[in-house]
Amino acid sequence: KSDSVAAAIVKCVNFSATKHRSQRRKDPEQTPYINHPIGVAYLLVEAGVEDVDTLQAALLHDTVEDTDTSHQELDDTFGPKVAGVVAEVTDDKSLHWRERKRLQIIHTPDVSHEAKLVKLADKLYNLRDLERCKPLGWTDTRVAEYFKWSAQVVAGCLGTNKYLEGELEKLFTLRNVEL
Ligand code: NDP
Ligand code: ZN
Repeated sequence: KSDSVAAAIVKCVNFSATKHRSQRRKDPEQTPYINHPIGVAYLLVEAGVEDVDTLQAALLHDTVEDTDTSHQELDDTFGPKVAGVVAEVTDDKSLHWRERKRLQIIHTPDVSHEAKLVKLADKLYNLRDLERCKPLGWTDTRVAEYFKWSAQVVAGCLGTNKYLEGELEKLFTLRNVEL
């Protein structure tokens, strides 16, 4: 049973690493996928977030969407608060990608403060990744579309965290994308 904050965090890192173990990012170097959830949680640390549930949710945020993990499994292992935040940032993969992206824009303003923090850090991480290098098979147009869509999601999170929003704003400004 993990009852210290440190133990709770290490438990999440280990759970997420195990679940994502065979996955890679879309960058040409095919970085191990786990770098992403760890990096998203670390952006929250840099942003001054100290709430353990939020940091745990960040570490787990893609496990239900992208691995065999169920909501019930997260609820049993990490409790309803953490599982609930992950659920709020999980897309329904049975829907067409256009519909998923449309629903993210519509639903984001109504999610919890904790879920908005994870969404801001997730978008910042992915946009910095795209800025660093283009995924294999992506055109410049597709990258530009991803920036435009992200700005619409981020617009629904404004007023949540100054640091994350400021860093995102810098990236959007460089690309002439309106927030
Ligand atoms: P996208 O295909 O739009 O890819 C972006 C997502 O990939 C990010 O949100 C991120 O999600 C993840 N990712 C992994 N590696 C990187 C990286 N190096 N840089 C940035 N992001 C990375 O996401 P979907 O999975 O929502 O879309 C799936 C399908 O939709 C695709 O198979 C594609 O065919 C189709 N599609 C086509 C488009 C087009 O042709 N214009 C546009 C969008 C989708 P996470 O945080 O979850 O890791
Ligand atoms: Zn993510």
